[in-house]
Amino acid sequence: MKLTFYGAAGEVTGSKTLIETGGQRFLLDCGLFHGESEQRNAEPFTFQAKSIDAVIITHAHLDHIGLLPKLIKEGFTGPVYTTEPTRLISKLMWEDAAKIQAEETEGGGHRIYDLADVQKTYKLLQSVKYDEWRHLPGGVEIRFRDAGHILGSAFIELRAEGLTLVGSGDIGNDDVPIIKNTEPLAEADVIIMESTYGARNHESARGRSALLRRAILDIVKQHGTLIIPAFSLERTQEIIYEINGLIEGGSLPKLPVFLDGPLAINLLPIYRQFPELYDNEAMFMRATGDDFFRFPGLEITLRARESFNIDAVQPPKVIIAGSGMMGGGRVVRHLAHYLPDSKNMVLVVGYQALGTRGRQIADGARLVEIDGSEIEVSAEIRKIEAYSSHGDQSKLLGWLDTAHRLPQTIFLNHGEKDQSQALAEIIKASGRAGRVIVPEEKVIYEI
Ligand SMILES: [Zn+2]
Repeated sequence: MKLTFYGAAGEVTGSKTLIETGGQRFLLDCGLFHGESEQRNAEPFTFQAKSIDAVIITHAHLDHIGLLPKLIKEGFTGPVYTTEPTRLISKLMWEDAAKIQAEETEGGGHRIYDLADVQKTYKLLQSVKYDEWRHLPGGVEIRFRDAGHILGSAFIELRAEGLTLVGSGDIGNDDVPIIKNTEPLAEADVIIMESTYGARNHESARGRSALLRRAILDIVKQHGTLIIPAFSLERTQEIIYEINGLIEGGSLPKLPVFLDGPLAINLLPIYRQFPELYDNEAMFMRATGDDFFRFPGLEITLRARESFNIDAVQPPKVIIAGSGMMGGGRVVRHLAHYLPDSKNMVLVVGYQALGTRGRQIADGARLVEIDGSEIEVSAEIRKIEAYSSHGDQSKLLGWLDTAHRLPQTIFLNHGEKDQSQALAEIIKASGRAGRVIVPEEKVIYEI
């Protein structure tokens, strides 16, 4: 078996791992690069797209699926295996990405793919049930297990040549709203594990809904507007779920709450379609007829015109809008409108990458540039970190401890170098694996 990393090696984004085994070439994820490596998205792949026999997708975040339409454009025609929710969510994610590319390149510039490429890609997707082995050519078998990261997310078990390889994809944080926790490991000789938070532990999950409640109560008291910039996939649905619980449980007064993002809104039916993937609390609510994406005061503003109408609604009010790092989407106009008033508040509930507008605002910038204008930041900026969808260091180590036997090799990818190295040291020192490797890009590792 041979492994080659073509992304997410020494960085978080661009997940793409070539697995060569049983005479077959599998690509595990085909993700987009974000932030500092973004220019790489437009460059040709450094492997032959046509030479790949099949693709396996762990979950529908763009840094795991975002370049798959480009792989098809460059000649890949094989099957793509993933779970059914990921198949459905991926289509919406690619359509949104293609639309954004079309807007950004209106005046010229290179489009990586368009809606026609997305259609071709979607046709290649085959859904695989969780926990069932699928037999592939070359005597290779794969199985998807719930990773507890976002709806439909999986870690992959791949059996070939007498070895079991586990590809973690992204490992979820424990006790997040709606979805289940990560399944334990079983057999694993080789593990490719993410290490986004390899050197850090999150604040406790217990206080997070109290912090959200406090922010909303403060905004009610000061008659202001609360803006919650949120990723359209998972974070938005989690925040709606939490506010639903607070309002229906009588911990918050009824007030206008706007869900203002077409992608987040269009994802709601997919969340409603898979109650068997909910955790016990969400399952109970569903079984007792409580639709947690609906509560008194919630308004869903799908059309752009409806979004503009929010301006005229008297405060106090809450606006949940994407994009999560405040670089695009409807949240941008709201920021320009509400940031200059000290009665308002921005609640940061997601990771803000270096170099993004969200990071600037979260770090306390007093002025930000929006559509060519300097906007004064007088609104209060608050953060809740515990909504992270990634497991922290203790979660990752605890997950490794669920393996039935000591893994011979662990590769740590999907992390900034310092995060992966710190985790590697702990794994080595605690004897949790025969060897630990922080892989370099494009180096072939033989197992
Ligand atoms: Zn992810």
